[in-house]
Amino acid sequence: MAKIRSLVCRECGSEYPAKAIHVCELCFGPLEVKYNYDEIKQTISRRSIEAGPKSMWRYMDLLPVEGPQVVGPHAGLTPMVRAKNLGAYLGLDELYIKNDTVNHPTLSFKDRVVAVALTRARELGFETVACASTGNLANSVAAHAAASSMQCYVFIPGDLEAAKVLGNLIYRPNVVEVEGNYDDVNRLCSEIAGEHGWAFVNINIRPYYAEGSKTLAYETVEQLGWRAPDQVVIPMASGSLLTKIWKGLNEMKHVGLIDSVATKINGAQAEGCSPISTAFKAGRDFFKPVKPKTIAKSLAIGNPADGYYALKTTAESGGAMDMVSDEEIVDGIKLLAQTEGIFAETAGGVTIGVLRKLVKQGVIKKHEVTVAYITGNGLKTQEAVLEAVGRPTRIHPSLVSFEKTFKVGKHGGDA
Ligand SMILES: *Cc1c(COP(=O)(O)O)cnc(C)c1O
Repeated sequence: MAKIRSLVCRECGSEYPAKAIHVCELCFGPLEVKYNYDEIKQTISRRSIEAGPKSMWRYMDLLPVEGPQVVGPHAGLTPMVRAKNLGAYLGLDELYIKNDTVNHPTLSFKDRVVAVALTRARELGFETVACASTGNLANSVAAHAAASSMQCYVFIPGDLEAAKVLGNLIYRPNVVEVEGNYDDVNRLCSEIAGEHGWAFVNINIRPYYAEGSKTLAYETVEQLGWRAPDQVVIPMASGSLLTKIWKGLNEMKHVGLIDSVATKINGAQAEGCSPISTAFKAGRDFFKPVKPKTIAKSLAIGNPADGYYALKTTAESGGAMDMVSDEEIVDGIKLLAQTEGIFAETAGGVTIGVLRKLVKQGVIKKHEVTVAYITGNGLKTQEAVLEAVGRPTRIHPSLVSFEKTFKVGKHGGDA
């Protein structure tokens, strides 16, 4: 028996072979990967994982690929930073930053999902890969396609940050800039996916793609010394990442890697695009689509595909959701940079801003082991903070000019 059992409908439970399909023919519910856990349980152990590659592929047994050849062999296993300074500032004893700003090769958490999606796409015989993207996904698909010699089309909205546009063009895929927002791009791509035999990583390959997010949960547990955290804060675009961190934590318990999971799953959005957080705070189990207007463009999905499941997941775990303004996002980026030396993109500002709110509200408590997921790199969204960081202090190239400007004492110590 293989470790992948089938694709299963999240609504009616119908099962399908593990091919490039994503919706149930009977009820149109979304499909997700189902595993033969009994089989996985027999071979997986902490020791076998620790002896594995220094990448997310050490958890290959829990990923929907056949292997052993993979696309994106270096993705994942990013640092888990004990954030003492930020923790002290916020009043938390044990705060960690899971730092995917340095993921390989394109500096965002998307390198995880794309590595799984393209590995599976290649196993299913595809030669052309594509995606509908809010920015980081396109960068990662383009880079991985180049490295694995696959044909590539990336579809992006018309208002992306300069570094994210450039971060596509440099790999020379077909970059399609659609006049509209992400939701327009996604609608168009769903039509194209139906017409062309391509692997759209977040459409017909979505069940596999989404599983890549689980590696953030696995790494969290292993890097905390084989324990699940008490609280996590996760940025939400489609909501997929949030649901998969919960799935990953529970799988680890299920296959016997940890004894218990009591993690509260908290979701973070920007006020300018918060359909999921708004629904949660209103006590609704469904969201109303919105038209996004926020500097957090990587999270700007007005009609989130996994919004309903994200709401369910957070409720089931006993977690919370909240949202922050553009100003609070910028403050969050600066706070993380100035306390921990980590330069995050706008999504990271959303995470830190919401973390701050949840601590203030007493939702996250001082003694709780807390992990904040920082999913993208600040060098890709420079325009968001350009006005908020001031300018360098300019001097003449002379000692006099320096000492006049900076009144520093001689021979050590400030004056
Ligand atoms: C895509 C993305 C997310 C989360 O995406 P989901 O669609 O919710 O899985 C979070 N942060 C960044 C930087 C992203 O690019």
